[in-house]
Amino acid sequence: MDKTLIYVAHDNLNRNKGALAGAQPETHSIVFVESQQMIKGARWNRQRLFFLLSAARHFADELKTEGFEVMYIKSKDSASGIQSLSKKYREIICVEPSSYRLTNSLADIGVRFVPNDLFLTPRALFEQWSKSQKSLKMENFYRWQRQRLGILISDGEPLGGRWNYDDENREPPPKSDYRWPTYPHHKRDSIDEEVIVQLRDLNLSGSLDETIWGTTRKAALAQLESFLKSSFANFGPFEDAMTVKSWALHHSLLSPYLNIGLLTPDEIINAALKEFEKGNISLASCEGFIRQIIGWREYINGLYWYFGEKYRESNFLNSKNPLLPLFENSGSTKMKCVSETIAGVERRGWVHHIPRLMILSNLAALCDVSPVELLTWMRNNFIDAADWVMVPNVIGMSMHADGGRMSTKPYIAGGAYISRMSDYCGDCAYNPKTRVEDDSCPFTTLYWHYLYRNRDHFKKNHRMFQQLNGMKKLRDIEATITRGNEVIEGLLAGEI
Ligand SMILES: Cc1cc2nc3c(=O)[nH]c(=O)nc-3n(C[C@H](O)[C@H](O)[C@H](O)COP(=O)(O)OP(=O)(O)OC[C@H]3O[C@@H](n4cnc5c(N)ncnc54)[C@H](O)[C@@H]3O)c2cc1C
Repeated sequence: MDKTLIYVAHDNLNRNKGALAGAQPETHSIVFVESQQMIKGARWNRQRLFFLLSAARHFADELKTEGFEVMYIKSKDSASGIQSLSKKYREIICVEPSSYRLTNSLADIGVRFVPNDLFLTPRALFEQWSKSQKSLKMENFYRWQRQRLGILISDGEPLGGRWNYDDENREPPPKSDYRWPTYPHHKRDSIDEEVIVQLRDLNLSGSLDETIWGTTRKAALAQLESFLKSSFANFGPFEDAMTVKSWALHHSLLSPYLNIGLLTPDEIINAALKEFEKGNISLASCEGFIRQIIGWREYINGLYWYFGEKYRESNFLNSKNPLLPLFENSGSTKMKCVSETIAGVERRGWVHHIPRLMILSNLAALCDVSPVELLTWMRNNFIDAADWVMVPNVIGMSMHADGGRMSTKPYIAGGAYISRMSDYCGDCAYNPKTRVEDDSCPFTTLYWHYLYRNRDHFKKNHRMFQQLNGMKKLRDIEATITRGNEVIEGLLAGEI
Protein backbone atom coordinates (compact mmCIF):
# COMPACT_ATOMS: atom_id res chain seq x y z
CA MET A 1 0.00 0.00 0.00
CA ASP A 2 3.04 2.31 0.36
CA LYS A 3 4.07 2.14 -3.24
CA THR A 4 2.87 4.15 -6.23
CA LEU A 5 1.84 2.19 -9.33
CA ILE A 6 2.94 3.65 -12.66
CA TYR A 7 0.92 2.62 -15.68
CA VAL A 8 3.16 2.74 -18.74
CA ALA A 9 1.18 2.96 -21.97
CA HIS A 10 2.67 1.31 -25.07
CA ASP A 11 3.53 4.75 -26.48
CA ASN A 12 5.43 5.96 -23.41
CA LEU A 13 8.61 3.96 -23.41
CA ASN A 14 11.02 6.47 -21.92
CA ARG A 15 12.76 6.11 -18.57
CA ASN A 16 13.69 9.79 -18.29
CA LYS A 17 10.37 11.40 -19.06
CA GLY A 18 6.91 11.69 -17.57
CA ALA A 19 5.82 9.37 -14.78
CA LEU A 20 9.03 7.33 -14.90
CA ALA A 21 11.41 10.30 -14.63
CA GLY A 22 11.75 10.23 -10.85
CA ALA A 23 10.69 6.63 -10.24
CA GLN A 24 12.72 4.29 -8.00
CA PRO A 25 12.30 0.53 -7.46
CA GLU A 26 11.85 1.10 -3.71
CA THR A 27 8.88 3.43 -4.11
CA HIS A 28 7.31 2.55 -7.46
CA SER A 29 5.91 -0.51 -9.21
CA ILE A 30 5.13 -0.58 -12.89
CA VAL A 31 2.32 -2.06 -14.93
CA PHE A 32 1.91 -2.52 -18.68
CA VAL A 33 -1.44 -3.71 -20.01
CA GLU A 34 -1.79 -5.65 -23.22
CA SER A 35 -5.50 -5.21 -23.79
CA GLN A 36 -7.78 -7.25 -26.01
CA GLN A 37 -8.90 -3.92 -27.46
CA MET A 38 -5.33 -3.28 -28.56
CA ILE A 39 -4.78 -6.75 -30.03
CA LYS A 40 -8.15 -7.54 -31.54
CA GLY A 41 -9.83 -4.12 -31.76
CA ALA A 42 -9.09 -3.79 -35.49
CA ARG A 43 -7.46 -5.49 -38.44
CA TRP A 44 -4.09 -3.87 -37.76
CA ASN A 45 -1.12 -3.91 -40.05
CA ARG A 46 1.25 -6.62 -38.75
CA GLN A 47 4.24 -4.26 -38.71
CA ARG A 48 2.35 -1.87 -36.45
CA LEU A 49 1.16 -4.36 -33.86
CA PHE A 50 4.50 -6.19 -33.85
CA PHE A 51 6.38 -2.92 -33.29
CA LEU A 52 4.15 -1.73 -30.43
CA LEU A 53 4.09 -5.05 -28.58
CA SER A 54 7.72 -5.94 -28.98
CA ALA A 55 9.03 -2.46 -28.10
CA ALA A 56 6.92 -2.44 -24.90
CA ARG A 57 8.14 -5.91 -23.89
CA HIS A 58 11.77 -4.93 -24.45
CA PHE A 59 11.24 -1.82 -22.35
CA ALA A 60 9.49 -3.79 -19.58
CA ASP A 61 12.51 -6.10 -19.46
CA GLU A 62 14.89 -3.14 -19.12
CA LEU A 63 12.88 -1.82 -16.16
CA LYS A 64 12.95 -5.27 -14.52
CA THR A 65 16.73 -5.36 -14.93
CA GLU A 66 16.87 -2.05 -13.10
CA GLY A 67 15.16 -3.70 -10.12
CA PHE A 68 11.57 -2.56 -10.56
CA GLU A 69 8.60 -4.79 -9.88
CA VAL A 70 7.09 -4.88 -13.39
CA MET A 71 3.76 -6.47 -14.21
CA TYR A 72 2.88 -7.11 -17.84
CA ILE A 73 -0.76 -8.11 -17.72
CA LYS A 74 -3.36 -9.06 -20.30
CA SER A 75 -6.84 -7.69 -19.89
CA LYS A 76 -10.08 -6.75 -21.70
CA ASP A 77 -9.06 -3.08 -21.77
CA SER A 78 -6.42 -0.93 -20.09
CA ALA A 79 -8.66 0.56 -17.40
CA SER A 80 -10.04 -2.77 -16.14
CA GLY A 81 -6.51 -4.26 -16.07
CA ILE A 82 -5.20 -1.39 -13.96
CA GLN A 83 -8.24 -1.29 -11.71
CA SER A 84 -7.76 -4.93 -10.75
CA LEU A 85 -4.49 -3.88 -9.04
CA SER A 86 -5.59 -0.58 -7.52
CA LYS A 87 -6.21 -1.76 -3.93
CA LYS A 88 -2.57 -2.72 -3.45
CA TYR A 89 -1.14 0.75 -4.20
CA ARG A 90 -1.15 4.18 -2.64
CA GLU A 91 -2.05 5.76 -5.98
CA ILE A 92 -1.85 5.10 -9.69
CA ILE A 93 -0.18 7.57 -12.00
CA CYS A 94 0.58 7.74 -15.69
CA VAL A 95 1.59 10.22 -18.35
CA GLU A 96 -1.27 12.20 -19.94
CA PRO A 97 -2.54 9.64 -22.49
CA SER A 98 -2.33 10.39 -26.19
CA SER A 99 -6.04 9.89 -26.97
CA TYR A 100 -9.35 11.10 -25.58
CA ARG A 101 -10.59 7.52 -25.21
CA LEU A 102 -7.78 6.45 -22.87
CA THR A 103 -7.81 9.75 -21.01
CA ASN A 104 -11.50 9.36 -20.24
CA SER A 105 -11.33 5.72 -19.19
CA LEU A 106 -8.30 6.25 -16.91
CA ALA A 107 -9.77 9.41 -15.38
CA ASP A 108 -12.91 7.40 -14.57
CA ILE A 109 -10.90 5.01 -12.38
CA GLY A 110 -9.01 7.80 -10.61
CA VAL A 111 -5.59 7.61 -12.30
CA ARG A 112 -3.55 10.80 -11.75
CA PHE A 113 -1.93 12.24 -14.87
CA VAL A 114 1.61 13.58 -15.13
CA PRO A 115 2.31 16.10 -17.96
CA ASN A 116 3.40 14.50 -21.22
CA ASP A 117 6.89 15.91 -21.80
CA LEU A 118 7.46 13.80 -24.91
CA PHE A 119 6.32 16.98 -26.66
CA LEU A 120 8.03 20.35 -26.48
CA THR A 121 4.80 22.32 -26.18
CA PRO A 122 2.58 21.76 -23.14
CA ARG A 123 -1.11 21.58 -24.05
CA ALA A 124 -1.96 24.68 -22.00
CA LEU A 125 0.76 26.70 -23.77
CA PHE A 126 -0.55 25.68 -27.19
CA GLU A 127 -4.03 26.73 -26.14
CA GLN A 128 -2.68 30.09 -25.04
CA TRP A 129 -0.97 30.56 -28.42
CA SER A 130 -4.13 29.50 -30.31
CA LYS A 131 -6.31 31.94 -28.42
CA SER A 132 -3.95 34.78 -29.31
CA GLN A 133 -4.28 34.07 -33.06
CA LYS A 134 -6.81 35.16 -35.68
CA SER A 135 -6.14 32.00 -37.68
CA LEU A 136 -4.20 28.91 -36.68
CA LYS A 137 -1.58 28.93 -39.42
CA MET A 138 1.22 26.38 -38.98
CA GLU A 139 3.75 28.88 -40.34
CA ASN A 140 2.94 31.35 -37.53
CA PHE A 141 3.10 28.64 -34.91
CA TYR A 142 6.45 27.46 -36.28
CA ARG A 143 7.99 30.96 -36.16
CA TRP A 144 6.75 31.35 -32.63
CA GLN A 145 8.34 27.98 -31.75
CA ARG A 146 11.68 28.98 -33.30
CA GLN A 147 11.71 32.18 -31.25
CA ARG A 148 10.47 30.52 -28.08
CA LEU A 149 12.94 27.64 -28.25
CA GLY A 150 15.80 29.73 -29.70
CA ILE A 151 16.38 27.30 -32.60
CA LEU A 152 18.15 28.59 -35.74
CA ILE A 153 17.78 32.12 -34.37
CA SER A 154 20.46 34.77 -34.35
CA ASP A 155 19.86 38.10 -32.56
CA GLY A 156 16.13 37.45 -32.53
CA GLU A 157 16.02 36.93 -36.32
CA PRO A 158 15.92 33.68 -38.32
CA LEU A 159 19.40 32.42 -39.14
CA GLY A 160 20.18 33.22 -42.79
CA GLY A 161 17.50 35.94 -42.84
CA ARG A 162 14.57 33.71 -43.86
CA TRP A 163 12.10 31.52 -41.98
CA ASN A 164 11.29 29.28 -44.87
CA TYR A 165 13.31 27.53 -47.59
CA ASP A 166 10.44 25.72 -49.26
CA ASP A 167 11.29 27.27 -52.62
CA GLU A 168 14.72 25.58 -52.54
CA ASN A 169 13.20 22.33 -51.38
CA ARG A 170 10.29 20.46 -53.00
CA GLU A 171 12.21 19.25 -56.06
CA PRO A 172 11.01 16.35 -58.21
CA PRO A 173 13.14 13.17 -58.18
CA PRO A 174 16.33 13.51 -60.27
CA LYS A 175 15.95 12.22 -63.83
CA SER A 176 19.51 10.95 -64.08
CA ASP A 177 21.09 8.18 -62.01
CA TYR A 178 21.10 9.07 -58.34
CA ARG A 179 22.28 7.13 -55.30
CA TRP A 180 19.44 7.05 -52.81
CA PRO A 181 20.39 6.35 -49.19
CA THR A 182 20.07 2.89 -47.68
CA TYR A 183 18.55 2.19 -44.25
CA PRO A 184 19.53 -0.09 -41.38
CA HIS A 185 17.80 -3.44 -41.01
CA HIS A 186 17.36 -4.85 -37.52
CA LYS A 187 18.08 -8.42 -36.56
CA ARG A 188 15.17 -9.87 -34.59
CA ASP A 189 15.81 -11.27 -31.10
CA SER A 190 13.93 -13.77 -28.94
CA ILE A 191 11.37 -11.20 -27.73
CA ASP A 192 10.63 -10.20 -31.32
CA GLU A 193 10.24 -13.87 -32.26
CA GLU A 194 7.86 -14.45 -29.36
CA VAL A 195 5.64 -11.59 -30.57
CA ILE A 196 5.73 -12.89 -34.14
CA VAL A 197 4.40 -16.23 -32.90
CA GLN A 198 1.67 -14.48 -30.90
CA LEU A 199 0.51 -12.58 -34.01
CA ARG A 200 0.52 -15.59 -36.30
CA ASP A 201 -3.15 -16.53 -35.95
CA LEU A 202 -4.65 -13.05 -35.75
CA ASN A 203 -6.62 -11.47 -38.58
CA LEU A 204 -4.10 -8.78 -39.58
CA SER A 205 -3.02 -7.07 -42.78
CA GLY A 206 0.47 -6.58 -44.23
CA SER A 207 3.55 -8.70 -43.72
CA LEU A 208 6.58 -8.89 -41.44
CA ASP A 209 9.11 -9.72 -44.16
CA GLU A 210 10.79 -6.31 -43.89
CA THR A 211 13.06 -5.81 -40.89
CA ILE A 212 13.44 -2.06 -41.14
CA TRP A 213 11.75 -1.29 -37.81
CA GLY A 214 13.75 -2.01 -34.69
CA THR A 215 12.06 -2.45 -31.34
CA THR A 216 14.60 -1.02 -28.88
CA ARG A 217 16.14 2.32 -28.00
CA LYS A 218 19.41 1.05 -29.46
CA ALA A 219 17.70 0.46 -32.81
CA ALA A 220 16.06 3.89 -32.65
CA LEU A 221 19.46 5.52 -32.07
CA ALA A 222 20.91 3.55 -34.99
CA GLN A 223 18.16 4.94 -37.23
CA LEU A 224 18.85 8.49 -36.04
CA GLU A 225 22.56 8.04 -36.69
CA SER A 226 21.88 6.61 -40.14
CA PHE A 227 19.59 9.51 -41.03
CA LEU A 228 22.11 12.12 -39.93
CA LYS A 229 24.95 10.48 -41.87
CA SER A 230 23.20 9.38 -45.06
CA SER A 231 19.96 11.28 -45.58
CA PHE A 232 19.91 14.60 -43.76
CA ALA A 233 22.01 16.54 -46.28
CA ASN A 234 19.44 16.05 -49.05
CA PHE A 235 16.34 15.93 -46.86
CA GLY A 236 15.19 19.36 -48.01
CA PRO A 237 15.38 19.12 -51.80
CA PHE A 238 13.58 15.76 -52.06
CA GLU A 239 11.15 15.96 -49.15
CA ASP A 240 8.12 16.11 -51.48
CA ALA A 241 9.41 13.82 -54.24
CA MET A 242 8.15 10.28 -54.94
CA THR A 243 10.03 7.63 -56.89
CA VAL A 244 9.81 3.95 -57.69
CA LYS A 245 13.57 3.81 -57.12
CA SER A 246 13.52 4.50 -53.39
CA TRP A 247 10.76 3.83 -50.88
CA ALA A 248 12.07 6.23 -48.21
CA LEU A 249 14.08 8.77 -50.26
CA HIS A 250 15.77 11.07 -47.72
CA HIS A 251 13.11 10.82 -45.03
CA SER A 252 14.23 10.14 -41.48
CA LEU A 253 11.97 7.16 -40.57
CA LEU A 254 11.95 8.48 -37.02
CA SER A 255 8.20 8.94 -36.45
CA PRO A 256 7.54 5.44 -35.03
CA TYR A 257 10.31 5.84 -32.44
CA LEU A 258 9.34 9.40 -31.57
CA ASN A 259 5.70 8.49 -31.16
CA ILE A 260 6.37 5.78 -28.58
CA GLY A 261 9.09 7.58 -26.63
CA LEU A 262 12.15 5.63 -27.80
CA LEU A 263 13.45 8.96 -29.10
CA THR A 264 12.57 12.45 -27.93
CA PRO A 265 12.15 15.59 -30.04
CA ASP A 266 14.81 17.50 -28.10
CA GLU A 267 17.49 14.87 -28.64
CA ILE A 268 16.69 14.68 -32.37
CA ILE A 269 16.88 18.46 -32.72
CA ASN A 270 20.13 18.68 -30.77
CA ALA A 271 21.70 15.94 -32.89
CA ALA A 272 20.50 17.61 -36.11
CA LEU A 273 21.81 21.04 -35.05
CA LYS A 274 25.16 19.50 -34.10
CA GLU A 275 25.47 18.00 -37.58
CA PHE A 276 24.47 21.33 -39.15
CA GLU A 277 27.10 23.16 -37.10
CA LYS A 278 29.80 20.88 -38.52
CA GLY A 279 29.05 22.55 -41.85
CA ASN A 280 27.95 19.42 -43.75
CA ILE A 281 24.28 20.30 -44.04
CA SER A 282 22.70 23.18 -45.95
CA LEU A 283 20.50 25.60 -44.04
CA ALA A 284 17.60 24.65 -46.36
CA SER A 285 17.80 20.96 -45.38
CA CYS A 286 18.33 21.71 -41.71
CA GLU A 287 15.47 24.22 -41.54
CA GLY A 288 13.20 21.86 -43.53
CA PHE A 289 13.79 19.06 -41.05
CA ILE A 290 13.58 21.19 -37.89
CA ARG A 291 10.26 22.57 -39.20
CA GLN A 292 8.83 19.02 -39.22
CA ILE A 293 9.76 18.33 -35.62
CA ILE A 294 9.20 21.63 -33.78
CA GLY A 295 6.58 22.86 -36.24
CA TRP A 296 4.33 20.21 -37.77
CA ARG A 297 4.55 17.56 -35.06
CA GLU A 298 3.92 19.95 -32.19
CA TYR A 299 1.23 21.84 -34.10
CA ILE A 300 -0.68 18.63 -34.87
CA ASN A 301 -0.58 17.49 -31.26
CA GLY A 302 -1.61 20.94 -30.04
CA LEU A 303 -4.57 21.05 -32.43
CA TYR A 304 -5.78 17.57 -31.43
CA TRP A 305 -6.26 18.75 -27.85
CA TYR A 306 -7.33 22.29 -28.73
CA PHE A 307 -10.08 21.24 -31.16
CA GLY A 308 -11.62 18.76 -28.71
CA GLU A 309 -13.11 15.32 -28.77
CA LYS A 310 -15.85 15.94 -31.34
CA TYR A 311 -13.49 17.30 -34.00
CA ARG A 312 -12.97 13.80 -35.44
CA GLU A 313 -16.66 13.71 -36.46
CA SER A 314 -16.37 16.81 -38.69
CA ASN A 315 -17.62 16.31 -42.23
CA PHE A 316 -17.84 19.76 -43.84
CA LEU A 317 -18.30 18.41 -47.38
CA ASN A 318 -20.80 15.78 -46.22
CA SER A 319 -18.75 13.00 -47.86
CA LYS A 320 -20.41 9.63 -47.49
CA ASN A 321 -18.78 7.10 -49.79
CA PRO A 322 -17.21 3.97 -48.30
CA LEU A 323 -13.48 3.39 -48.54
CA LEU A 324 -12.39 2.20 -51.99
CA PRO A 325 -11.62 -1.55 -52.21
CA LEU A 326 -8.15 -0.79 -53.61
CA PHE A 327 -7.07 0.38 -50.13
CA GLU A 328 -7.18 -3.27 -49.08
CA ASN A 329 -5.28 -4.69 -52.05
CA SER A 330 -2.35 -3.04 -53.80
CA GLY A 331 -2.64 -5.44 -56.71
CA SER A 332 -6.20 -4.51 -57.56
CA THR A 333 -5.58 -1.22 -59.39
CA LYS A 334 -3.69 -0.24 -62.51
CA MET A 335 -3.02 3.24 -61.13
CA LYS A 336 0.73 2.95 -60.64
CA CYS A 337 1.08 5.64 -57.97
CA VAL A 338 -1.73 4.12 -55.91
CA SER A 339 -0.62 0.50 -56.20
CA GLU A 340 3.00 1.44 -55.31
CA THR A 341 1.82 3.42 -52.30
CA ILE A 342 -0.55 0.75 -50.97
CA ALA A 343 2.13 -1.91 -51.53
CA GLY A 344 4.47 0.23 -49.39
CA VAL A 345 1.89 0.36 -46.60
CA GLU A 346 1.36 -3.40 -46.83
CA ARG A 347 5.11 -4.12 -46.60
CA ARG A 348 6.23 -1.54 -44.06
CA GLY A 349 3.22 0.21 -42.53
CA TRP A 350 4.83 3.39 -43.77
CA VAL A 351 5.01 5.73 -46.75
CA HIS A 352 6.19 9.30 -46.49
CA HIS A 353 4.15 12.44 -46.10
CA ILE A 354 3.39 13.12 -49.77
CA PRO A 355 2.00 9.67 -50.70
CA ARG A 356 -0.13 9.87 -47.53
CA LEU A 357 -1.41 13.32 -48.47
CA MET A 358 -1.32 13.59 -52.24
CA ILE A 359 -1.97 9.98 -53.25
CA LEU A 360 -4.06 8.21 -50.59
CA SER A 361 -5.93 11.10 -48.99
CA ASN A 362 -6.20 13.01 -52.25
CA LEU A 363 -7.83 9.99 -53.90
CA ALA A 364 -10.23 9.53 -50.96
CA ALA A 365 -11.15 13.24 -51.01
CA LEU A 366 -11.67 13.26 -54.78
CA CYS A 367 -13.92 10.17 -54.47
CA ASP A 368 -16.00 11.75 -51.68
CA VAL A 369 -15.02 9.05 -49.18
CA SER A 370 -16.27 9.53 -45.63
CA PRO A 371 -13.42 11.14 -43.62
CA VAL A 372 -13.90 8.72 -40.72
CA GLU A 373 -13.52 5.74 -43.06
CA LEU A 374 -10.14 7.02 -44.23
CA LEU A 375 -9.15 7.88 -40.66
CA THR A 376 -9.90 4.34 -39.48
CA TRP A 377 -7.98 2.73 -42.32
CA MET A 378 -4.94 4.94 -41.78
CA ARG A 379 -5.05 4.45 -38.04
CA ASN A 380 -5.06 0.67 -38.52
CA ASN A 381 -2.36 0.55 -41.15
CA PHE A 382 0.45 2.99 -40.32
CA ILE A 383 3.25 2.03 -37.99
CA ASP A 384 3.43 5.53 -36.51
CA ALA A 385 -0.32 6.01 -36.12
CA ALA A 386 -1.88 7.36 -32.96
CA ASP A 387 -5.12 9.21 -32.39
CA TRP A 388 -3.47 12.59 -31.66
CA VAL A 389 -1.57 12.57 -34.94
CA MET A 390 -4.04 10.89 -37.30
CA VAL A 391 -7.12 12.95 -36.42
CA PRO A 392 -5.83 16.44 -37.39
CA ASN A 393 -3.76 15.09 -40.30
CA VAL A 394 -6.71 13.24 -41.83
CA ILE A 395 -9.77 15.22 -40.77
CA GLY A 396 -8.19 18.66 -41.03
CA MET A 397 -5.26 18.67 -43.39
CA SER A 398 -6.14 15.88 -45.84
CA MET A 399 -9.91 15.76 -46.10
CA HIS A 400 -10.75 19.41 -45.36
CA ALA A 401 -13.57 17.93 -43.27
CA ASP A 402 -13.24 20.71 -40.68
CA GLY A 403 -14.22 23.37 -43.25
CA GLY A 404 -10.83 25.08 -43.05
CA ARG A 405 -10.21 25.42 -39.30
CA MET A 406 -6.77 23.93 -39.86
CA SER A 407 -5.86 24.44 -43.54
CA THR A 408 -7.55 27.21 -45.43
CA LYS A 409 -7.81 25.16 -48.62
CA PRO A 410 -8.03 21.46 -49.44
CA TYR A 411 -4.90 19.55 -50.48
CA ILE A 412 -6.23 18.19 -53.76
CA ALA A 413 -4.41 17.74 -57.04
CA GLY A 414 -4.80 16.14 -60.45
CA GLY A 415 -2.42 13.86 -62.32
CA ALA A 416 -0.22 16.80 -63.40
CA TYR A 417 1.05 17.24 -59.82
CA ILE A 418 1.78 13.52 -59.44
CA SER A 419 3.50 13.45 -62.81
CA ARG A 420 5.67 16.46 -61.85
CA MET A 421 6.66 15.17 -58.40
CA SER A 422 7.20 11.49 -59.20
CA ASP A 423 8.28 8.98 -61.82
CA TYR A 424 5.11 6.91 -61.43
CA CYS A 425 3.34 8.11 -64.54
CA GLY A 426 5.90 6.91 -67.13
CA ASP A 427 4.65 3.33 -67.35
CA CYS A 428 1.20 3.80 -65.86
CA ALA A 429 -1.91 2.61 -67.70
CA TYR A 430 -3.45 6.08 -67.35
CA ASN A 431 -2.63 9.41 -68.94
CA PRO A 432 -2.29 12.36 -66.52
CA LYS A 433 -2.79 14.90 -69.32
CA THR A 434 -6.36 14.05 -70.34
CA ARG A 435 -9.64 14.04 -68.43
CA VAL A 436 -12.47 12.53 -70.48
CA GLU A 437 -10.87 9.53 -72.22
CA ASP A 438 -11.17 5.92 -71.07
CA ASP A 439 -7.49 5.97 -70.13
CA SER A 440 -7.50 9.44 -68.52
CA CYS A 441 -5.80 9.52 -65.15
CA PRO A 442 -8.55 9.25 -62.49
CA PHE A 443 -6.81 11.97 -60.47
CA THR A 444 -7.07 14.42 -63.36
CA THR A 445 -10.73 13.72 -64.08
CA LEU A 446 -11.72 13.70 -60.44
CA TYR A 447 -9.84 16.89 -59.59
CA TRP A 448 -12.25 18.85 -61.79
CA HIS A 449 -15.20 16.76 -60.62
CA TYR A 450 -14.34 17.69 -56.99
CA LEU A 451 -14.13 21.40 -57.78
CA TYR A 452 -17.40 21.28 -59.69
CA ARG A 453 -19.42 19.35 -57.10
CA ASN A 454 -18.05 21.43 -54.20
CA ARG A 455 -18.10 24.81 -55.95
CA ASP A 456 -20.70 26.28 -53.58
CA HIS A 457 -18.65 25.29 -50.52
CA PHE A 458 -15.62 27.13 -51.87
CA LYS A 459 -17.16 30.13 -53.60
CA LYS A 460 -16.23 32.49 -50.76
CA ASN A 461 -12.75 31.01 -50.26
CA HIS A 462 -10.33 33.43 -51.94
CA ARG A 463 -7.57 30.79 -51.91
CA MET A 464 -9.73 28.60 -54.18
CA PHE A 465 -10.53 31.39 -56.62
CA GLN A 466 -7.91 30.45 -59.18
CA GLN A 467 -8.82 26.75 -59.16
CA LEU A 468 -12.56 27.43 -59.47
CA ASN A 469 -11.89 29.91 -62.23
CA GLY A 470 -9.87 27.26 -64.10
CA MET A 471 -12.78 24.84 -63.75
CA LYS A 472 -15.29 27.39 -65.07
CA LYS A 473 -13.17 27.84 -68.20
CA LEU A 474 -13.20 24.14 -69.12
CA ARG A 475 -15.15 23.69 -72.34
CA ASP A 476 -15.70 19.98 -71.71
CA ILE A 477 -16.88 20.29 -68.10
CA GLU A 478 -20.09 18.29 -68.77
CA ALA A 479 -18.16 15.41 -70.32
CA THR A 480 -15.68 15.62 -67.43
CA ILE A 481 -18.45 15.31 -64.87
CA THR A 482 -19.97 12.34 -66.73
CA ARG A 483 -16.56 10.66 -66.90
CA GLY A 484 -15.93 11.54 -63.23
CA ASN A 485 -19.16 9.82 -62.17
CA GLU A 486 -18.10 6.69 -64.08
CA VAL A 487 -14.63 6.79 -62.50
CA ILE A 488 -16.00 7.06 -58.96
CA GLU A 489 -18.40 4.18 -59.65
CA GLY A 490 -15.55 2.13 -61.09
CA LEU A 491 -13.29 2.83 -58.12
CA LEU A 492 -16.06 2.00 -55.64
CA ALA A 493 -16.70 -1.26 -57.48
CA GLY A 494 -12.99 -2.10 -57.41
CA GLU A 495 -12.74 -2.04 -61.21
CA ILE A 496 -10.13 0.71 -61.73
C1 LIG B 1 -2.88 11.76 -43.98
C2 LIG B 1 -1.65 11.83 -43.13
C3 LIG B 1 -1.53 10.96 -42.07
C4 LIG B 1 -0.41 11.04 -41.23
N1 LIG B 1 -0.34 10.20 -40.18
C5 LIG B 1 0.71 10.26 -39.33
C6 LIG B 1 0.78 9.40 -38.21
O1 LIG B 1 -0.10 8.60 -37.96
N2 LIG B 1 1.88 9.49 -37.41
C7 LIG B 1 2.87 10.38 -37.65
O2 LIG B 1 3.83 10.44 -36.88
N3 LIG B 1 2.82 11.21 -38.71
C8 LIG B 1 1.78 11.16 -39.57
N4 LIG B 1 1.73 11.99 -40.65
C9 LIG B 1 2.82 12.96 -40.87
C10 LIG B 1 3.98 12.45 -41.73
O3 LIG B 1 3.49 11.86 -42.90
C11 LIG B 1 4.83 11.42 -40.97
O4 LIG B 1 5.20 11.97 -39.72
C12 LIG B 1 6.11 11.10 -41.71
O5 LIG B 1 5.81 10.62 -43.00
C13 LIG B 1 6.90 10.07 -40.92
O6 LIG B 1 8.06 9.69 -41.61
P1 LIG B 1 9.48 10.25 -41.20
O7 LIG B 1 9.73 10.00 -39.77
O8 LIG B 1 10.47 9.74 -42.18
O9 LIG B 1 9.27 11.80 -41.38
P2 LIG B 1 10.20 12.98 -41.90
O10 LIG B 1 9.69 13.42 -43.21
O11 LIG B 1 11.63 12.60 -41.81
O12 LIG B 1 9.87 14.13 -40.85
C14 LIG B 1 10.46 14.19 -39.56
C15 LIG B 1 9.44 14.13 -38.48
O13 LIG B 1 8.55 15.22 -38.53
C16 LIG B 1 7.32 14.89 -37.89
N5 LIG B 1 6.20 15.28 -38.77
C17 LIG B 1 6.28 15.78 -40.01
N6 LIG B 1 5.06 16.09 -40.48
C18 LIG B 1 4.19 15.78 -39.50
C19 LIG B 1 2.78 15.86 -39.40
N7 LIG B 1 2.01 16.34 -40.39
N8 LIG B 1 2.23 15.42 -38.27
C20 LIG B 1 2.97 14.94 -37.25
N9 LIG B 1 4.31 14.84 -37.30
C21 LIG B 1 4.91 15.26 -38.42
C22 LIG B 1 7.35 13.38 -37.67
O14 LIG B 1 7.59 13.15 -36.31
C23 LIG B 1 8.53 12.92 -38.51
O15 LIG B 1 9.17 11.81 -37.94
C24 LIG B 1 0.62 11.96 -41.50
C25 LIG B 1 0.48 12.82 -42.58
C26 LIG B 1 -0.64 12.76 -43.39
C27 LIG B 1 -0.76 13.69 -44.53
